[in-house]
Amino acid sequence: MSSNVDLLLVEDDRELSAMLTRLLGEEGYDVTHAPDGQRGLHLGLTRSFAVLVIDRGLPAIEGLDLLAKLRAKGVSTPALILSARGTTSDRIDGLDAGAEDYLTKPFDVGELLARLRALQRRHASTSAVLQLGRRVLDLESRLVLEPGADPATGVSLSERESQLLEVLARRPRRVFSRAELLDLVFTEAESEIVADTYVHYCRRKLGRDVIRTVRGLGYQLGST
Ligand code: CA
Repeated sequence: MSSNVDLLLVEDDRELSAMLTRLLGEEGYDVTHAPDGQRGLHLGLTRSFAVLVIDRGLPAIEGLDLLAKLRAKGVSTPALILSARGTTSDRIDGLDAGAEDYLTKPFDVGELLARLRALQRRHASTSAVLQLGRRVLDLESRLVLEPGADPATGVSLSERESQLLEVLARRPRRVFSRAELLDLVFTEAESEIVADTYVHYCRRKLGRDVIRTVRGLGYQLGST
């Protein structure tokens, strides 16, 4: 079980990647590292992260193109761009590509950490859309959509189904026991079986893989 913050680091500099992975790990981040833009794009589209840290100068797909592609596919995860280029127009390019923040190399790790915390705080207070694998859950309309799709094509969830998926999607790497779900989602229910019932409903609407069963432990957000 992990309550760490899932962070995708897309950075081709090996030494910097190793250092950031270690330092961010010590600060409670679960770092997934991609050494080029292509792998960063694949991970960004297929997995859920709480925050993205993307180097601008990357092999295969340049950092700002990578972020623009993710944004075009509906990935709204807050992103910080790292770059050796720090002029005002470079920063504006970064923000235009969909970045929430932009940090010029060389940077102080303490500053990176502070900016990541600020990014997550801002995002948590404004975000009504959660990543569900390659789809998104809009918490206000309770619709599950392919990124960028017409809302009319969305799958409509009941309030309970939406709440269950919200709990799982807010901490995508964590496994929740039935008792925890009963407590967090089904507060007035008496039996943990109610969690199984709603997992079944969600799978019927969204496909079996939307929620993963972790044998003997409980449930976790799935891969699609
Ligand atoms: Ca680079």
